[in-house]
Order: sequence, then C-alpha cells, then structure tokens
Amino acid sequence: MTFTPFNASLKKICQVTAFSVLLSTTTFAAETKPSQKATDIAHKYPIVDGHIDVPYRMQNHWEDVTRATENGDFDYPRAAAGGLDAPFMSIYIPATKEGKGAKELADVLIDQVEAIVYRAPDKFAIARTAKDIRDNFAANKISLPLGMENGAAIEGNLDNLQHFFDRGIRYITLAHSKSNHISDSSYDDAKIWDGLSPFGVEMVKEMNKLGVMIDISHVSDPAFYHALEVSEVPVIASHSSLRHFTPGLERNVDDKMLKALAKNRGVLMINFGSFFLTEAAMNWSNKYKAAKEAFEKLQGDNLTDAASKTFSENYRTRFPYPYASTDDVADHIDRARKLVGIDYIGLGSDYDGVGDTLPTGLKDASTYPVLIDELLSRGYKERDIAKILGGNVLRVMEAVETFANQQQEQITLNERAIP
Ligand SMILES: [Zn+2]
Repeated sequence: MTFTPFNASLKKICQVTAFSVLLSTTTFAAETKPSQKATDIAHKYPIVDGHIDVPYRMQNHWEDVTRATENGDFDYPRAAAGGLDAPFMSIYIPATKEGKGAKELADVLIDQVEAIVYRAPDKFAIARTAKDIRDNFAANKISLPLGMENGAAIEGNLDNLQHFFDRGIRYITLAHSKSNHISDSSYDDAKIWDGLSPFGVEMVKEMNKLGVMIDISHVSDPAFYHALEVSEVPVIASHSSLRHFTPGLERNVDDKMLKALAKNRGVLMINFGSFFLTEAAMNWSNKYKAAKEAFEKLQGDNLTDAASKTFSENYRTRFPYPYASTDDVADHIDRARKLVGIDYIGLGSDYDGVGDTLPTGLKDASTYPVLIDELLSRGYKERDIAKILGGNVLRVMEAVETFANQQQEQITLNERAIP
C-alpha cells in the first residue's frame, strides 16, 4: 500500500501528524524468528487486534487479502501464521467526510469486508459477538468484526446507529482527526464541545443500549472523561499507547487516564506505530510535518503528487526514520501493567494504517509471536499473555453485550406491562 502524504484522498491520519510517509510496507516475513513456544501460544489463545485498516487500504488499492498480497501489512497467510484470530476491521471515515457522504462511505467499506468473507468462507467469518469470535476460533477461521473509526457516519441520526449496529458495527471511535458533531478530537485545536456534544451524550447512551463499544482513541482528554462519565459499561481505546513515552501527545493516554480507564474496566489496546511509542519517532514526525508544509507552501498551485513523493523520499533518505522496536511495545505494556495491572491491556496494531512506521520485529500481521517472545523473556505468564492478546477485550465485549441484553429485556418487560 502506498500512503502518499500529500494526497488528501489517501491521507490516513491515525498518526501524530498525517505524515504516513511512504510506501512499500511490504515485508513478508518477520525479521525475527519467534520461538516455537511463542508461536504455540499465539495459536492456543484468540488474538483480537483492536484496529486494522484493511477496508480503506482496499478502497485505495484493491488486493485480494484472502491470498498472499504484494503490499500492506495484512493478508490471510500472514494473519494465519501470526495466530491472529479477530482483527477489528476499521471502517475508517476521513474527517473531511463529516456532513459529506460519511454514511455512504461506511456502507461501501462494510461491503468490502463482507466481500472478503464471501470470497473465502473457509478462511474468514463475520463476527458480531464475543461468542462468534470464540466459535470461529474453534472452527479455525479468522473473524472480521467491525469497528467504525469516526462517528461522522452517524450523521446526527440515531436511526443510522441502529443501521450500522444491524450491519455489524461493534465499536465506534467517536471522532477522528477533527472535532465532529459527536466529540472533540485530540488532533484538533478547535475544541468545540469541551468534551462530547449533546448529541454525543445521547449517542453514547444509545450505544450502551444497543451493545456498541465506545472507542475513546482519537478523542480529546475532556471527551475521554465525558465518555467515561456517561457510559454505563467499559469502554475501549482501540489503538492508543501511553503518553508517558510521547510527552504532549494527546492522542495517547496519560497515566491518570489509564487509571480512570481501568476503573471503568475498559481496555487500552496498544498502537504499534513508532510515533505512538517513542519520543524520537514522534519528534521526527513533527519535523517532517513542518518541512512538508513548508514545501507545499513553496510549491503552491504547482504542487504535484510526483513532486510530493520525491520530497518524502528525499527527506527520508536525509533523515532516516527512527523506528521503534518490539522492546518499545513491551515497555508500554510493562508500564500499563505496573500502573493498573494486567486486566486492562490489549493490542491495537493499526496495521495497514500507519504506513512504513512499524517497529522492527512487528512489521506485519505474522509477527505477534515476536511480541509474545519478548513478553515471555520479561517473565510474563502464559495466562497473562492470553489476556493481552484477546482475553481482556473479549471480556469488555461480553460486558457490553450483557448490559445491552438486559436493557432489551427491560424494554420487553415494560411493553408487556402496558395493559
Ligand atoms: Zn486512528
């Protein structure tokens, strides 16, 4: 997949600064060969990844991910080798779509995911509940649960929330790179609502009732606390890391937020993008962004995609990217465990969403066992590793489903009570 930072249509701003540099993330084999023990653990327990950007990647540059693909970080052979069982497919809606066709794009992207399953029902399966994920795991199929990245597609209408629930969406990231009609964004200087909007509050309550998880990745700090206050069930951060390692980056959660998230019994799913992991990579991104903006300004109307690409390549040659490592991901896990314990940590790699910024050792969906080896070497017990890989987020899914089912039962009882 080629992320061209200057092409708005391709721009995926999961990262600090929309830079998503360059291309060919193509790495077919893990750089580090994992041990047999780590590989066995990866296959013995469900691995649920909070955020993988396959649908938008396919939208930009279609490839049949049911087979080995030339590009990207995910395809069936690599996911199967890595023991990945339930990658949440990100139904990613760019912030520019707010009020401009967001719902339509979300439906198209969901179609893309369904097409993967229809193309290879022996390899993939739809999953709408934690039980579906466990059943598919037992049947040796990879589940494709759906998460919507950016509530823009709800378009201020709770009927649309029901529509997307019916289509299988099981979490919604309330906002993306810009504040929207639901919530303020961490990346946006304009904090419109000082948290959630009045509609956002209603929507969070309705998500609780339906059984759609609230994803606080990308939202502003006040919106994070506001969501925790309103939600009656645990929430997730589908792809965020710890701000302690990236000072000032609001996109990651600080220690106080992590403690609040644990109190809520939610899960922080650690993002693998290097700029979410280390200050060096974050600073590189900030400098790159400034240089890019200066270049764009200089080019003015003469700016072309080719010139942009050359600029990015030259920049990267001159200032080599400071990749994080598997160690850094484990450092985030260690710190989270130290602060709140093992029960609130998960993985949200952001594969296919962060371009060529993935850490050494964790370059694609085949590499989860490399991380498992690192955790084993740090003394993590197998049962704790299983929680990080998927057990914790499955627990949240079940809690959210149980609450929603109770709400539905209550509604039915109330209806029966009417003479
Ligand atoms: Zn993102």
